[in-house]
Amino acid sequence: MTTADSAPGSDFIRKIIVEDLKTNKFGGRVHTRFPPEPNGYLHIGHAKSICLNFGIAEEFGGLCNLRFDDTNPTKEEEEYVESIQEDVHWLGFDWGDRLFYASDYFDQLYEWAVQLIKDGKAYVDSLSAEEIREYRGTLTEPGKNSPYRDRSVEENLDLFERMRAGEFEEGAHVLRAKIDMASPNLNMRDPVMYRILHATHHRTGDQWCIYPTYDWAHGQCDSIEGITHSICTLEFEDHRPLYDWFLDQLGIHHPQQIEFARLNLSYTVLSKRKLLELVEGGYVTGWDDPRMPTLSGLRRRGYPPQAIRNFCERIGVAKTNSIIDISLLEHCVREDLNQRAPRVMAVLRPLKVVIDNYPEDQVEELEAVNNPEDPDMGTRKVPFSRVLYVERDDFREDPPKKWFRLAPGREVRLKHAYYVTCVDVVKDEQTGEVLELHCTYDPETRGGWSEDGRKVRGTLHWVSASHALDAEVRLYDRLFLKANPDEVDEEGADFKANLNPNSLETLTGCKVEPSLADAVPGDRFQFLRLGYFCVDPDSTDGRLVFNRTVPLRDSWAKIEKTLKGR
Ligand code: ATP
Ligand code: MG
Repeated sequence: MTTADSAPGSDFIRKIIVEDLKTNKFGGRVHTRFPPEPNGYLHIGHAKSICLNFGIAEEFGGLCNLRFDDTNPTKEEEEYVESIQEDVHWLGFDWGDRLFYASDYFDQLYEWAVQLIKDGKAYVDSLSAEEIREYRGTLTEPGKNSPYRDRSVEENLDLFERMRAGEFEEGAHVLRAKIDMASPNLNMRDPVMYRILHATHHRTGDQWCIYPTYDWAHGQCDSIEGITHSICTLEFEDHRPLYDWFLDQLGIHHPQQIEFARLNLSYTVLSKRKLLELVEGGYVTGWDDPRMPTLSGLRRRGYPPQAIRNFCERIGVAKTNSIIDISLLEHCVREDLNQRAPRVMAVLRPLKVVIDNYPEDQVEELEAVNNPEDPDMGTRKVPFSRVLYVERDDFREDPPKKWFRLAPGREVRLKHAYYVTCVDVVKDEQTGEVLELHCTYDPETRGGWSEDGRKVRGTLHWVSASHALDAEVRLYDRLFLKANPDEVDEEGADFKANLNPNSLETLTGCKVEPSLADAVPGDRFQFLRLGYFCVDPDSTDGRLVFNRTVPLRDSWAKIEKTLKGR
């Protein structure tokens, strides 16, 4: 696995643009676009493309459009159009008044198709889809001309018009470009430009029953919008000669297409088709399930947009495909949250602790720093009282060597509070389960420091039992068990066979400090010693639900350290 083979800011795309500006190729203009098809929610791979297109426009004082490539009426929905806009804004980018749809250009595209027919460069073919596939040939064999290829211009114009008028059934005819059935590039073997689809379009309704293919629409849409640099993923490299051909035949503005390697991320899938399958099959709770690599899922999980932008900058852009380690993304999230998330105390698996020598009715408001990384974030008060909760994992009756947490007779520091020593353990007589601990505290250690300089090695988080709020906490693990989910062991199985059955663990009865009473969905915190957490929209008045964004342990930092050590 690699991170990037180009340094951020100086990648090959930006170099091309710098060069174009020098030679005044587009009159000094830089105009990019992000062109999603509204057939699903955006994922982290799209974020790479968004950061690239909008980022370049910003850096070079240019513009970036948002254009919906809505040429396929059967898979597109308004819900997706809305979510895509929300996600691009959330990432921190804005298209101003330049929101466009390929469907805005259907009339123009139709006229240009008529122009190609008149020029003898397009024809109506009446072969079936299957025959067209057979006639196309293969990588090693040339294709064959369709028997309909030499229809007269008049016949083609008549048929094409009647296709548009709705006289034919789906599949009866298509419009194809007349290029070269023997071209070594399969995309140049008379590609289909229009097909008949009696489908209602989310914007044009039933106005059309023929729809342009992506190949026919894409380059012309870029041209209409005056795009200078049409940045796309590597799969379209072989389509570039076709797009160039169309633009040249029409003699219209010719953007420069540049291809880059798409983002692949370990332990997840970045394909709208596969993500849709997970949603529709109920494998996740929706597009915004916090385990999904969608931007809405990552947002719900608590990933800050700035962390995603930093990640996209760090991976850079390259010309060869690679897989990025998901722990790098998690590292960027921690790096960001470490600075901005207030630190609070929460106990996920509570164990009751009674401080025997602490007065029954006393409550102290102890001062706690909100974020030692950022003094401007101030302090807050945390209540301390006789009955507390600590983490069940922080106690061992029979501790191993080097155990610095609670155990019979051991002294530890309670963060922001006092030193306490465990003096007794109450257990269920039948099961042996530890029910509560009894401790004593040292009043001379207020704030968690001892005047006499005696050492305690362990510092635990805690909450006051009578002040704590109840919460549900959802812990997430990787969505897939394998770095490459497409690698399946059994014949006939697909990526879903590699889903991690334990990707979600729900904990109820968690206890969080009372300062979280006013937390609202989207708020992010570090729970001391546990990780970063975000309030989930499932929270209601009186019910707090948290998602664990990332644990504290940073496997990427470790990887980096080892790499540097070599
Ligand atoms: P998917 O494979 O998820 O269905 P797509 O390419 O069909 O993606 P589009 O809506 O066409 O989805 O994508 C919009 C833009 O985002 C395109 O320019 C595309 O190249 C880019 N894009 C999509 N996936 C990635 C990715 N994994 N890495 C980088 N860019 C991507
Ligand atoms: Mg696409």
